[in-house]
Amino acid sequence: MPQSLFNQSYASLPERFYARPALSGVAAPKLIRLNTPLAESLGLDPAWLAGPQGLAMLSGTAMPPGVDPVAQAYAGHQFGYFSPRLGDGRALLLGDVRDSAGHVREIQLKGSGPTPFSRRGDGRAALGPVLREYLISESMAALGIPTTRALAALATGEWVQRETPLPGAILARVASSHLRVGTFQYFMFLKDTEGLRLLADFAIARHCPDAAQAPRPYVALLAHVVAAQARLVAQWMLVGFIHGVMNTDNMAISGETIDYGPCAFMDHYDPATVFSFIDEQGRYAYTNQPTIALWNLTRLAETLLPLLSPVEAEAPPLAREVLATFNTQFHQAYFGGLRAKLGLREEHEGDEALFAALLETMARTGADFTNTFRALSDEDVLAGAMPATLPEAFADWLARWRLRAAQEQPAPIQERAAGMRAVNPCYIPRNHKVESMIAAAVGQGDYGPFEEMLSVLSRPYETQPGRDSFAAPPLPEERVRNTFC
Ligand code: AMP
Ligand code: MG
Ligand code: MG
Repeated sequence: MPQSLFNQSYASLPERFYARPALSGVAAPKLIRLNTPLAESLGLDPAWLAGPQGLAMLSGTAMPPGVDPVAQAYAGHQFGYFSPRLGDGRALLLGDVRDSAGHVREIQLKGSGPTPFSRRGDGRAALGPVLREYLISESMAALGIPTTRALAALATGEWVQRETPLPGAILARVASSHLRVGTFQYFMFLKDTEGLRLLADFAIARHCPDAAQAPRPYVALLAHVVAAQARLVAQWMLVGFIHGVMNTDNMAISGETIDYGPCAFMDHYDPATVFSFIDEQGRYAYTNQPTIALWNLTRLAETLLPLLSPVEAEAPPLAREVLATFNTQFHQAYFGGLRAKLGLREEHEGDEALFAALLETMARTGADFTNTFRALSDEDVLAGAMPATLPEAFADWLARWRLRAAQEQPAPIQERAAGMRAVNPCYIPRNHKVESMIAAAVGQGDYGPFEEMLSVLSRPYETQPGRDSFAAPPLPEERVRNTFC
């Protein structure tokens, strides 16, 4: 391995941006899984990572020379209420590398022990949530949705106390940065305009270097984040993903999905679906996600106002205009995505009503979100057959869809079906499967289901023989109603 494994770009910022916690370490770190292709794409040697020095680093026990971890400071609105000081209470940023595509990627440990931001927390993570984040984030990546990635999962050999004692674990994750809306709010609350400017310049250099040349760089930064989040949330909606905790500290400036807590994919379609046990008001329900994203982005816009020149500041509509583009961009990505899911290539008047009618029929019949779209992506169905898995209640809508499709330039059925299958996944991380996978690992130390599920979900758009159980909705007694962090 080279002299120093990582850069620590974040430490080029002033010391008030982070803390340098003492390492806690763990007694007996054991690798559960290393993401070998990801390690290689980061220029990290998988054999070294899996060896004693690699495990010492990934468990937060001992760092190789030159690796100097930090815990980042941030604030955030949690369920609408502002906390001026959250920060990495159980995470350590090891540093950053340039990946094989030339992009900067950060490596962070989650569950590696307390930091000055831990408040009452123990700085630790339990095995279940670590496996859950590993699996769901890798599944999101395979679906083609921007996300933090999982580099490794380790068992700590220690117990963490939750409602009951649980085996401890650490996740090493990768992101293009760990900057959040809440990072900006941290400096705004402190009225630290210089800090804000340094942070915004850092974000521009990392995520949208072209913005530095724009006439109004900070407005361009906001526009970049607004566009990235509009696309991201549209992609979530198109696969039935519910983040669960869209607090401003869990919204990344990069536009990557971050912080997999009580997140889940819908089985039967219900726009009001909430899984998170703590979300009693349904603030982060499926259908509220675009509204909440815009609310969070408005908080980001507020933090950038002190950075605008007097002339720009006299024109606050500037920020407002940028925010107003969120809805346009979201709808474009969302309706464009629905069009592709239905095998339509052209934009026609009345399409939105067609989409709404499908969703309404799904909601009324309790149809499975994923499987309904997949059922439509079938050559026989495109040739006029009734999908075997859909009830008679879909007949009227199917007739309407076929009429609408017939208004386009004809394309070969095989081509249309392949195009639809490429955007309508067969496999999503279904909750009941995730829960039984976790039960096997935590209860019996059996990682077979974890490995098998990862393998199936790495090719979500391909029908895989013998894997039908991964595509099946839960039986009534298997249904998971609540998820926990
Ligand atoms: P989250 O709800 O996961 O976004 O976390 C909100 C805040 O709580 C962040 O500042 C986390 O670092 C912190 N936190 C969550 N769990 C723990 C823990 N077990 N120990 C210390 N801090 C934690
Ligand atoms: Mg968080
Ligand atoms: Mg979390």
